Amino acid sequence: MTKQRRRTRTIYLGGIPIGGGHPVVVQGMTKTDTRDVAATLRQIAALQKAGCQVVRVAVPDAEAARALGRIKARSPLPIVADVHFDWRLALEALRQGADGLRINPGNIGARWKLKELVRALADRPVPLRVGVNAGSLPRDILRKFRHPCPEALLEAALREVQTLEELGYSMIKVSLKASSVPLTVQAYRLFSERTAYPLHLGISEAGPPEAGIIKSAVGLGVLLSEGIGDTLRVSLSASAVLEIRVAWGILQSLGLGPPRAEVISCPTCGRCSIDIRRLARKTELALRDIRAPVKVAVMGCVVNGPGEAREADVGITGARGKGIIFRKGRVLRTVKEEHLLQELLRELRAWRP
Ligand code: SF4
Repeated sequence: MTKQRRRTRTIYLGGIPIGGGHPVVVQGMTKTDTRDVAATLRQIAALQKAGCQVVRVAVPDAEAARALGRIKARSPLPIVADVHFDWRLALEALRQGADGLRINPGNIGARWKLKELVRALADRPVPLRVGVNAGSLPRDILRKFRHPCPEALLEAALREVQTLEELGYSMIKVSLKASSVPLTVQAYRLFSERTAYPLHLGISEAGPPEAGIIKSAVGLGVLLSEGIGDTLRVSLSASAVLEIRVAWGILQSLGLGPPRAEVISCPTCGRCSIDIRRLARKTELALRDIRAPVKVAVMGCVVNGPGEAREADVGITGARGKGIIFRKGRVLRTVKEEHLLQELLRELRAWRP
């Protein structure tokens, strides 16, 4: 069971509410060279199509910061500038129209630099993410705790937030990421007990797709199921679009996302009489962009197929070279195996909630 969402403050990023019990916002990050405006815009368009709501772009240098203006002018999504080391890049990103900024307390530097940034934010207030990362903790905190631990991440986040509050800025969201799931989960829990700032969730450097999806699903799933998290990003050594699909899958599996089509398919066993893997994959692809809560079952045999998938709205099951189309566990008709997919799609087109 998913606990009630933890109540946080609401901030608005490019008009999108984050926190305060609003739906969890899916963020993505471009993997292009930000200075290549055309390539970055192409990737943003692909991310938007996949369901991304806010996009972050890396700002490693002044040229990338200056490119933001042209990206922002044509981006269909709000843009967050990801800044490390040099606070002047954050100032330039702000001038170029970024809808939000992300800074890392571990490398943004002295208080006076933050003061400069807050002064600029006073003229153009946008959400500022305090993005703590276990791999780049402030040196004194790392010395104190000796290694990255939940308390170290917590202290880094609280200290930066307190500095910003003292400087008079509170349009803040916070992340406390690590590549370790237990470390990340505990850091977020500790922080959420102490403040009402909205939280951006993520497992950093989660890994290549298989391992990374598992870590992200477990880590973000635990936190979301505890009611923690207002926005999230899945990080994988894979395509930016896959990150968005996984993010939505995590939300959907917890009943937190908007309605989407869902494929359930049997794992197959010795009774399977059709090519389930191919059919399940093709069905998944066909359903990818359907924004309706239709549940589709792809089952291997008649012994258990329709019965096991009684909850499915529409389904198919193998029957020795043939296939059966069923609806809510009730058999509709038998068709040749080679026609199964097209018959299933026909049923889906006719389906109404
Ligand atoms: Fe095996 Fe049939 Fe169950 Fe699939 S539906 S796992 S083929 S018994």
